[in-house]
Amino acid sequence: MIRAHTIRLNPTPEQANLFRQAAGTARFCYNWGLRAIKDALDQGMPVPTHRALRDTFKRIRAVAYPWTFQVGKSAIDGAFVNLGRAVKNFLDSRSGRRKGKKVGFPAFKSRRRGYGSFYVANDRFSVDGHTLKAQKIGTVNMTEPLRFVGKILGATIRYQAGWWRISIQVEVAHTPPTHTGPAIGVDLGITSLAVTSEGAVFENQKHLKRALATVKRLQRSVSRKVKGSANRRKAVVKLAKAHFRVACQRKDGLHKLTTALVRHASLVGIEDLNVAGMLRNHRLAQAIADGAWAELRRQLEYKAPAFGSRVIAIGRFVASSKTCNHCGHVNDDLTLAMREWACSNPDCRLLLDRDLNAARNIRDEALRLASA
Ligand SMILES: [Zn+2]
Repeated sequence: MIRAHTIRLNPTPEQANLFRQAAGTARFCYNWGLRAIKDALDQGMPVPTHRALRDTFKRIRAVAYPWTFQVGKSAIDGAFVNLGRAVKNFLDSRSGRRKGKKVGFPAFKSRRRGYGSFYVANDRFSVDGHTLKAQKIGTVNMTEPLRFVGKILGATIRYQAGWWRISIQVEVAHTPPTHTGPAIGVDLGITSLAVTSEGAVFENQKHLKRALATVKRLQRSVSRKVKGSANRRKAVVKLAKAHFRVACQRKDGLHKLTTALVRHASLVGIEDLNVAGMLRNHRLAQAIADGAWAELRRQLEYKAPAFGSRVIAIGRFVASSKTCNHCGHVNDDLTLAMREWACSNPDCRLLLDRDLNAARNIRDEALRLASA
């Protein structure tokens, strides 16, 4: 399986310059190819493939763009691969072959949106402890060693929130272990991040709220500064760093939760929530966004195979929170404000935490689907 590790780099000023140059060349190639595709579409011609575009570019560049020889070959190749993927995503989305949110036609990349990124092929660099050795760039210090052992497939170097980072893709050898853990259900909560059918409660992160307050303050600070001024530029960098911090904290909390779940349980049942639909309910919006359900599911699904665990999403029409886990009685009057499940079946009268009752229903439904 393929894993990626993102590591912050400490380049020298000269190396940072080379990074900017490579990212700039990659952006130029991407835009050059996109322009050619747009022209072809405008003239009703067939859309050229990214390989054809790359070959054309390489034929003319000695004369037309000699400066592109200053950067490594893979930055240019990678730009055309990215373009090909963007166009494919757009076409597949339009034809319905790609599910989910509609993907728009690729946009030109702008220098205003940061320095950008570039690709480095695996034969162009190597890593050794805290050192990255890359052709045309030299040895660059990495803030941590590569976490994964395996065949390195390639890397992307990207400028983000004031730092250059490298994301290294590694093919990790993998024999799925046999998981002997129990089956659990997870109710993604509103007051807490998640409750499992075994009663484990994972709290929403409080520090995330604090970090969000910082983002709001910096946002105001940016809008008070004169457009185009040096002070505004500085404030924008600060804001970008704060945003990045929030994103990292959010992901970190979810990583701990999802790893704990798939390590413990051989079967993890979760609700297939319509997050987009629920976000429209404004009162819940912040809590749901904080909990980042979609990200949680993504993490669970990619981590589960590594532990030999399995994730099953149950339909959101299964009334997990309105059904009694003990007797199956359905209580339609349950409101969000009621935190306890008090079964209204006079023969049952089960009294249980609402989320725990839901988590047990999710577990049972997942077990049913797993054996079906
Ligand atoms: Zn009951």
